[in-house]
Formats: sequence, C-alpha cells, structure tokens
Amino acid sequence: MSDPMTPDQWRAALKAEGVKFTEYSGWTTRDRDAATGKAFGPVHGALNHHTAGSNSLGAVAADGAPNLPAPLCHTFLPKSGVAVLVSCHRANHAGLAAVNSYNAIVAEKPIPKPDKSSGTVDGNDALYGVEVENLGNGKDVYPRAQYDAWVRWNAAICRHHGWGAGSCAGHLETSVEGKVDPLGPVEGYGKRGRFQFTMQQLRADIAERLKHPASWSPDTASTPPPKEVKLTGPAYTNLGLAHSYQLAPGGWNEIQFTEEWTDEAGHHAANGAVFAVGAARFTGSLSLRLDGLPVGDVVQVRMSEWEGDALKALHPIHEVIGTPGGTYSIVPLAKRIGAGRSMRVRLLNQSKTDIEVASAVLTALIWKES
Ligand SMILES: [Zn+2]
Repeated sequence: MSDPMTPDQWRAALKAEGVKFTEYSGWTTRDRDAATGKAFGPVHGALNHHTAGSNSLGAVAADGAPNLPAPLCHTFLPKSGVAVLVSCHRANHAGLAAVNSYNAIVAEKPIPKPDKSSGTVDGNDALYGVEVENLGNGKDVYPRAQYDAWVRWNAAICRHHGWGAGSCAGHLETSVEGKVDPLGPVEGYGKRGRFQFTMQQLRADIAERLKHPASWSPDTASTPPPKEVKLTGPAYTNLGLAHSYQLAPGGWNEIQFTEEWTDEAGHHAANGAVFAVGAARFTGSLSLRLDGLPVGDVVQVRMSEWEGDALKALHPIHEVIGTPGGTYSIVPLAKRIGAGRSMRVRLLNQSKTDIEVASAVLTALIWKES
C-alpha cells in the first residue's frame, strides 16, 4: 500500500534529490478527486509525458484542455529544468491504461506493448504524472538541465516509495489511445552527448541514480578533445650517395647519405644517416641498387629510431633479394616520429660476401608537427 506523497513529502523528496522547483498557487488542494468521486491512490508508478506545446503551465495547472479539466499532471517541467508543483492529488494525465502494461509497471517487469484486449484501468487512480515541456515534433530538444531534473523527479518518487526504475513508464507504454509521448532529442546527460529520448534510457538513468545517495550528481566531465596536431610542410628531402660503398656480411650498417638535394637542408648535417627528425610525419621511398649480391641472397632494410646515439625503436624489416645483373629495389618509407627522435635507415647483408651499395636515393616529403 503506497499512499500518495503529501505536500511535505513532495518537497522533501524533490529537495533531497536535487530537483529545483516552485509551487503553483493552490497545488496542495487542486485535484480531481471531488469531481470524479474517486480518490487518488494507492499509487503504483510514475507516468512521463511531453506537453506537445510550449508555455503550458497555465493549461496543465489551471485551465485544462478541451474536455479535460485541470490539473493535467502533478508536476510541470519546463525547459529551464525548474519544476513546478501543480497538484498532489488526482490529476487528468494518464487516461486509460492497458491492463497488461499497467500490471507490468506495478510488478516492475519489462513493459509489453499496451494491449486494449487485456482490459483497461484508469491510470489517474494510481500514477503520478509529469508533463515535460517539449513540442513533441521529434525535433524540439530537451535541454540538459531539463533532462537531468526529469531523471531526478522520477528517482525522488521511487526513492520515497522504495520503488525501482521499473515503476517509471512513458505514456506511450500504457496508452490505449495511441499516445506517443514522450519523444525527441535530448541535449545530453552526464558525459553523454546528444541522444534520442527513450523510456529505456530514462529508466537506466533513474536506476543509476538510485544506486547512489539522493545527493548524487552524474559525472559531467567530458573527455578533453584530442590535441589538434598542426602540420607544416611538406618539406621535400632528397638524399643520396656521392660514392658507392662496400657492405660486409653481418651487422646492421647505417646508410650515410653524402648527397643532398632538399628544399630544407640540414636534417642529416650532424649525422649523415639521419633523414628525418621529430616531431614529424613523413612518406617517401628508398631506391637501392646493390651490386654483387648473390642471386637469392638477402639484404634486410630497416628504419630505426634514435634519441641522440641511443637506439629507441626498430621498424619492420624489408627484404631485398639478389637478382641476376644487379639488384634494384624500392623500399617504402612512411612513419610518424616523436619529438626529440631521429630516423635512420640500416642495412644488413645476409649473404656470405661483400657487396656494393652502388646507389641509395631517399626521397621523402616531411611534415613537421606542432
Ligand atoms: Zn501524455
């Protein structure tokens, strides 16, 4: 047996739950009980609506709708998120509810599609109602403050009565008259950005609140946007060898570039092996001509990352396989290199004989990061 909340219980529950509210004149006595001869209660749930209009406070609290005298809900929740208490007794908001969905709300079970053939009950006997201001056109957005107060309003009622979120329903879940409310986009809630209102999401948000003390607020800290990387360039870099050189078997050996045709000189000035320094991104290729590499034997090519003279990272191996009449190969180069690091290319002669690196031309476009 759950008696409807008294005015003081409403005030206390909403205040504890962090719902800001004002009290519409006469809200503690305005009712439909006398006119219908039916008392409000026992209560079994909360029913959620959108107003399908704007500035509806006067209508829901005092003026009513055609053929429907006010009050039209217990609480009016405008876009500001500051609720207005308009009644704590019987109100005209729920209309006829299908018995199958109504029973599910009472039992806090998943709510089936309302089925008129299961019979109907007068939802106004037992359901609290909130009218949430929204045009109901599917485009009008519920602001964050409004949705946050909406979750709190439902949670306050559940907490007072010891109910779970399963006691909260939408008009569309009970109506046998084809009601579609509530619906529409929500600006955001907690860390969540814009989303479409659903009763499933509202119940999940109510359930989350109920796991915490009434004073709880959802964490709204959003993850900072990723730092924007500014790229300048690309600088064109073209390095080569002034002379061919011998490469003995075994041991990684850096290509020392001794020729440079670049529009931004200097990357390899201190160390001829360096072709890019970070923070930067680059794409390019290394054209190799190897003489004397036995057919079928392998020279491995690998980019390596350095901090000063300390080797920090090795990148995947590319294999050049000896072919008759000199070996020609193009090795793709593309990477990001962090600040303070430099990139070099190393070769490993896996044959059993000295070979000649006849030509090594590195061409790259380099974008500096900032
Ligand atoms: Zn409704």
